[in-house]
Amino acid sequence: MSLNKAVLDIRQRIKVRPSPTNVPAASWTGTDLVNGVETKTLTVIFKSAGCRWGKAGGCTMCGYVYDCASEPPTLEDYKAQLAKAMKKAEEFPEFMVKIFTSGSFLDDQEVPVEARDAILETLAADPRVIKVLVETRPNYVSEENVKECLEILGEKPFELAFGLETSSDRIRKDSINKGFTFKDFTSASEIARKQGVTVKAYLMLKPLFLSERQALEDISRSIDDAAPYADTISINLCNVQKGTLVEALWEKGQYRPPWLWSIIDILQKAKAAHPDLPLMSDPVGAGSKRGPHNCKKCSGEVADALRTFSLTQDPADLKTPDCECKELWKKVLEIEDFTYGTPILD
Ligand code: SF4
Ligand SMILES: [Zn+2]
Repeated sequence: MSLNKAVLDIRQRIKVRPSPTNVPAASWTGTDLVNGVETKTLTVIFKSAGCRWGKAGGCTMCGYVYDCASEPPTLEDYKAQLAKAMKKAEEFPEFMVKIFTSGSFLDDQEVPVEARDAILETLAADPRVIKVLVETRPNYVSEENVKECLEILGEKPFELAFGLETSSDRIRKDSINKGFTFKDFTSASEIARKQGVTVKAYLMLKPLFLSERQALEDISRSIDDAAPYADTISINLCNVQKGTLVEALWEKGQYRPPWLWSIIDILQKAKAAHPDLPLMSDPVGAGSKRGPHNCKKCSGEVADALRTFSLTQDPADLKTPDCECKELWKKVLEIEDFTYGTPILD
């Protein structure tokens, strides 16, 4: 059975529940680095027609595809979604807006051009919005649509974010089923940068079928490979989302999310090698069984260290007191390659 078929079988068992199309899937405020300065952010997950790649099977770890609208939202729906989200930033004197669709903002079959333009026009007209980021698969980026976005945004800084996941085409295909290549990413990055648009690359630590050590080495290598094409690299730590192949294997004891010690190690080395490249990691679900974790005692503290480092970029913030579970993590790195794909569970 192909990897895509295995993912699709799971997708077909899960129904997208009908929900209002004029409300975003989620929105929240936070803090991020913009040109090295801590800045307020508004993140909006728009309910769109859904990720085309995900609806046809798609990525092994992705449960976001179920966030899509049960029927395609209208232009008025998109405007209403944005208005509802913007209320959360009412008090902010200035902020950055991060747009996700659980798919690709630049896929005009997913988000119609009129809706894309209306969203960007609203953001362009709001003087408090100091930067706009949108996420998309690289194959939907063209000189033409980037130019169209820039024409609307005017002088406002624009960033494209890509879920590159890894620089290895083999791992992206055989562990994630992502459906694009490293070359697709570098080409999209070149198109963006030629027009003054910055690039954020998301990597993912520990997709399926990798030992902890292989996963760690994969991300270290991927940071080096992606660095020439990205202005920021953000490392997601794989977590077990509902309705995914990752969940199906996790339930059988065949997958364990990454150790937090691994990402600490990766960031320490990567920051030394790339001191001027912003590196971040938001450990979503840290400490839980479905999320990246060490032992119960130290997971919270290590996750906090990651959040602090993501804002300060100071390697000293990655230093946390050693915990006894660190020895177990070192053993896992040493011997998990010899367990024939079975994770060492703690
Ligand atoms: S990770 Fe992105 S590209 Fe993959 S299925 Fe999910 S939304 Fe689509
Ligand atoms: Zn511990």
